[in-house]
Amino acid sequence: MKYIFVTGGVVSSLGKGLTAGALGALLEQRGLKVRLQKFDPYLNVDPGTMSPFQHGEVYVLDDGAETDLDLGHYERFTSGKLSRLNNLTSGKVYETVLKKERRGDYLGATVQVIPHVTNEIKQRIYDGAGDDVDVLITELGGTIGDIEGLPFLEAMRQFALEVGRQDVLFLHCTLLPYLKAAGELKTKPSQQSVAKLREIGIQCDILVCRTEQPMTNEMRQKLSLFCNVPVKAVIEECDVETSIYELPLALKAEDLDDLVIEHLQLDAPDNDMKVWHDVVRRLKAPSHKVEIGVVGKYIELQDAYKSVYESITHAGIANDAAVRIVRLDAEEIEKDPKKHLGTLDGILIPGGFGDRGTEGKIAAAKYARENGIPYFGLCLGMQIAVIEYARNVTGLEDANSTEFNAQTPHPVIDIMADQKELTTKGGNMRLGACPCQLMTDSFSYHAYGKELIDERHRHRFEFNNDYREQLEKSGLRVAGINPERNLVEIVEIPDHPWFVGVQFHPEFKSKPNAAHPLFANFIAAALKYKK
Ligand code: GLN
Repeated sequence: MKYIFVTGGVVSSLGKGLTAGALGALLEQRGLKVRLQKFDPYLNVDPGTMSPFQHGEVYVLDDGAETDLDLGHYERFTSGKLSRLNNLTSGKVYETVLKKERRGDYLGATVQVIPHVTNEIKQRIYDGAGDDVDVLITELGGTIGDIEGLPFLEAMRQFALEVGRQDVLFLHCTLLPYLKAAGELKTKPSQQSVAKLREIGIQCDILVCRTEQPMTNEMRQKLSLFCNVPVKAVIEECDVETSIYELPLALKAEDLDDLVIEHLQLDAPDNDMKVWHDVVRRLKAPSHKVEIGVVGKYIELQDAYKSVYESITHAGIANDAAVRIVRLDAEEIEKDPKKHLGTLDGILIPGGFGDRGTEGKIAAAKYARENGIPYFGLCLGMQIAVIEYARNVTGLEDANSTEFNAQTPHPVIDIMADQKELTTKGGNMRLGACPCQLMTDSFSYHAYGKELIDERHRHRFEFNNDYREQLEKSGLRVAGINPERNLVEIVEIPDHPWFVGVQFHPEFKSKPNAAHPLFANFIAAALKYKK
């Protein structure tokens, strides 16, 4: 087993997660079994309770873990399956330690950050790997110098001492700011960040420098000298031109994989990276073009619908098409749907919570249904489609979800009876992978090409089966059912070019070289609509 620790300095939002993911992709291409994980120093036990404004999207795993969005990058860049063991927060560490303390597990000892908290973190480095992995990459969230990150760094230092320095590699990412007035890139912040690491006893082996401009040889030498890493271990990470999926190739061009393999004394033959060359080639020279509107509430945030945007890009690659994503604020649409939606080739409504913007989303679903524009509803987007259909086709006046109107006369979306006594905040969501049986005569079956699928969930409300017969009679197609609990998972409108709403989150299972079948078919339908 070999271990790589990825840390970051100078500023946050450096794209450490992408760098870690891309390194994973490089090593996987060389035949190694790779797993990635994230340590987050904040005190929430997991990001499940955090608003998208705070922390971007919550990424859900098969086992139902609500995790940091970097795990999404890890799953998109590598094939390794992740579990709840692969995302650890300070909150979780302290929760575990305090439970042990209350149980008396520490036999009267004074419980301290060192060794009790650091031991817990070290254990998670061992556990995170599992048995079938060659290299475990652990990324530490935050920036060097943050107080709350210290126990994690200390644990990493101890870990390297424990397993031996030959099996551990420290990779540090920094920024080289460009000073316009001086007309040059600056290395001092990187030097200081590396010095800060050394203060706690960690000497990085590789320095990855984010920069808007290429470095000169002189700068590489300077960084090498001051940061105490060989010149060839100073890696330039220039901003990529079109897509994050260029990153593995960009890092390969800097020989990052050779460096890692040499340092960790791994036996892994070189690879031509054909898979990634193919992805990038198709991304850069698409034959077609479509415009997809994403109607949401967190439209101004870059990260709130991360996996949705990525999945749309993957579907573009699969269809040889450039997809322009038009981000639309649901509240704006309500006033004049045609103005905002009239020129689009497809409309997608992603997941969400709370009632702000729902009427605008309902208006968007109506516009898509009436005008034959391909529609894809994810989780909340499916519930919106059901509400719209119930109101405007089935004739159930004021139909709604009890999430938005507890007094609605027609609760077509509701909390399951057995869940009602639980609180509506936290704790009672349907989370993680659930099976779904598809109706063979459906858009969905056509996409998947098989009858039994499983997809990841994160929601509290469900399609209300009391209304199923009525809605079906008025033409709504129930195309997928959870066979264990008889829950409606997919609705479709049959006499429409492509109208699909899914209760799950397909965006968590799409990859750049293997687009999710529903996303791929949605974009294919949009291309057809355009013609
Ligand atoms: N708010 C809805 C529910 O809780 C949808 C959740 C979602 O889109 N993830 O059921």
